Amino acid sequence: MTSFLLENAIILPCEGRRVSHDPGSILVVDGVIVAVGSVEQVRHHPATSAVPSHDFRGHVLLPGLHNCHLHSGLLRGTAESMALWEWLENHVDPAHRALTPEIAEAASWMAYTEGLRGGTTSVLDMWRFMEGSARAADAVGIRATLAPYTADRYDWFETLDTNRRLLETHRTYAEGRVRTWVGLEHLFYCSPQMFRDAAALAEEFDTGLHTHSSESIWEVQESLRQFGRRPLEVFHERGILGPRTVVAHGVWLDDREVEICVQTETSLTHCPCSNMKLASGPARVGYYRERGLNVALGTDGEKENNNLDMLEEMKFASLLQKVSTLDPTTGDPWDILEMATRCGAKALGLDDVTGTLEVGKEADIVAVDLRSLHFVPVLHGQDFNVPAHLVFTASAHDVSDVWVRGNRLVRSGEVISVDVRAVAQRAQAAAEDLFERRRNLGDPAPSGGPTS
Ligand SMILES: [Zn+2]
Repeated sequence: MTSFLLENAIILPCEGRRVSHDPGSILVVDGVIVAVGSVEQVRHHPATSAVPSHDFRGHVLLPGLHNCHLHSGLLRGTAESMALWEWLENHVDPAHRALTPEIAEAASWMAYTEGLRGGTTSVLDMWRFMEGSARAADAVGIRATLAPYTADRYDWFETLDTNRRLLETHRTYAEGRVRTWVGLEHLFYCSPQMFRDAAALAEEFDTGLHTHSSESIWEVQESLRQFGRRPLEVFHERGILGPRTVVAHGVWLDDREVEICVQTETSLTHCPCSNMKLASGPARVGYYRERGLNVALGTDGEKENNNLDMLEEMKFASLLQKVSTLDPTTGDPWDILEMATRCGAKALGLDDVTGTLEVGKEADIVAVDLRSLHFVPVLHGQDFNVPAHLVFTASAHDVSDVWVRGNRLVRSGEVISVDVRAVAQRAQAAAEDLFERRRNLGDPAPSGGPTS
């Protein structure tokens, strides 16, 4: 049933203006929002009488969240508080070498189910053997943009050939809910020629491109040493920047690199939790946004977060801005909400279909139950405090319902599209298999540079 009326809720359309409808309603017909506004306004729409209505008083409805940098994975909590190099060489890269398609698929089932439970309706996932990721996204019901981990300087990653094969079979999949982009692991994992080939591949398939950059100071220094230029300048020269390119991290961009991103309309994904946990540093997000750079939000992987909770990520995004600038006026809740919704959809080129609760958009809706003790008080009118509650108080556990394209995938706090217990058991078994396989590897191959 993809036609319904959600009534008596607090609605945050996140459409650019700081607007709320309180109390408000949303009318969805065939998976598309046809009316949103005050309860009275929406009640007068002729279609309301023909659809079932649900009372959502005590809840806030907001657009589905876009996690614009994620890695499916099974290394949660296994190598903590280590230097980046040691962590990559001894833990992450050996796990890549030990990975199989079956293990990789189990990781995607887990990641997408976990994300959906917390209000994530769309992910940009950089992972491997992503035919399995496509199957997982199809079953879970989430939107997924798949960007394989490709590299040509190490033989255990994906290649542009395997990325091409995925594009040939899964450029779009699951009625367009799942899409394939071109992935590039990292500046030092990929040759200059590979960058140019990746740009050509994205153009050939008329699709987007995702990579990591400028996560650590070391990386910038190494780029200057090897290429005489900073990473985003190198990217620009190699032709991979543009309106359908999303760069993860971008912690250490100088003003000129920010200008390059703005001019090329490249988007950035800010991953505050990962940047804090790996001691990468604070991205100048307030400055980036002032300059007109589109900044989305991402959790990064389970190994550097250690959850995929976008509501919690919003809090980190705000707090990191405040503490790094010593300015309590930055990281405003409305701005942070915009990054997690509208800016995320824009980064993914999905802003025509999702990212806000507006008439004509597909119904990707998240309901957060505000009736718990930890949300007291919920205030209305001139004391309205719900955006602050979402950014500073809420976590994934407070999400009650999630719809994608009008399909209800989470109901009363339970994922209903897949069997969560089975997903968890399969991921547990896959992780045990992965660690067994990793133990049986020979000496780890040298790593090329830190990135996550
Ligand atoms: Zn990453």
